[in-house]
Amino acid sequence: MKQTFPLGRVAGIRIGAHWSALIMVLLFGWVLGDQVLPSMVAHVPATARWTAAIVGALALAAALLAHELAHALTARHYGVPVRSITLWALGGVSELGDEPPSARSDFWIAVAGPAASFGAAALFGGVAAAVHAAGWPAVAVAELGWLAAMNVLLGLFNLLPGAPLDGGRVLRAALWWRCGNRARAAQSAAEAGRILGMVLAAAGVAEVLLWREAGGLWLILIGVFVANAASAEGAAERASTALAGRRVRDVMKPDPEIGATWMTVGEFFQHVALRSDQDVFPVVDAEMSLAGVVGVGGLGRIPRDRWPRTTLGQTMARVPPAYVAAPDDPAAPLLRHPPLAADLLAVVIEDRRIVGIVTRARLVRIVERERLRAPAPARDGSALAADWNPRRSEARVSRHE
Ligand SMILES: [Zn+2]
Repeated sequence: MKQTFPLGRVAGIRIGAHWSALIMVLLFGWVLGDQVLPSMVAHVPATARWTAAIVGALALAAALLAHELAHALTARHYGVPVRSITLWALGGVSELGDEPPSARSDFWIAVAGPAASFGAAALFGGVAAAVHAAGWPAVAVAELGWLAAMNVLLGLFNLLPGAPLDGGRVLRAALWWRCGNRARAAQSAAEAGRILGMVLAAAGVAEVLLWREAGGLWLILIGVFVANAASAEGAAERASTALAGRRVRDVMKPDPEIGATWMTVGEFFQHVALRSDQDVFPVVDAEMSLAGVVGVGGLGRIPRDRWPRTTLGQTMARVPPAYVAAPDDPAAPLLRHPPLAADLLAVVIEDRRIVGIVTRARLVRIVERERLRAPAPARDGSALAADWNPRRSEARVSRHE
């Protein structure tokens, strides 16, 4: 998820907020100022009430960040690299660079978040009691009490047993510990997440239809999100299982057609792209070294009258080092990053020569074949091509009415 507002670094981890996090803060502020505080405390001046509401909403966002930081720092403790933490409309996402190395670390990384939320709840509750005893205004006590209650809910909600929620990770760790097979444990946790998501969404629908509560809309949103994220995780897990033990050489398209920086888009379509079955092409410079990548889709969006004047060098995308592989590299890690130019996962180079490319479409096909070959096929494999998401991240949700 893209960070719209960078918020700095904590212990070297990039912290930021997606633009949709603003919606979350505004909504919490509105619920607190318009409904919660007026119902708990009578006759509060509007300025005091709305100040308390804004401070409360920001404090809740900070508590959410603490929840994610607890996951991130525990992950790092077990040697799992953490790239970033991003707050968004439905909570926070910690992007981990790798999977937890053992069932034990999986368990502790997962429970650290809810533990932090319960800790925050105790803290807010304690301060509320102290402030109440010291005779502070009732609105401050009410706000702190609400923060304590919300953090308890946050901790409990995240412990629901289905991926991608923390409870799903705990379930995965437990199954992994019991049966010793991480991939199968992850499949079961993803399946539980899909069911959990559907149950949450159904409860939301019931809330809206039977009790006419608009809060049910949130539950529907979260349910759909959980179900989708769980499906994507299951598919990514299957893909990674199918590729386990394979080398880049086994999955690449050898001797791909290539473009050159000096070719115009018109020439490239006429002489290369339209005669090829590839959708993406490496582009080389005058020394025949890799300079970039172009996709048929991207080139097709350039207006036709500019084709004779635009060169591939002007329109290609750069290829970051993570997208360059050697034939003997393992294939599974290629799934960890999103494709370039819509389809390219790696350019394969040997002796400074381009010997192959690995595309997303090709890997999806391989994974699908593998599934059909397996003795006990996964039941929900049909959604693979649509749902398959090569980005490995840990998504966390946190909202409830
Ligand atoms: Zn969490």
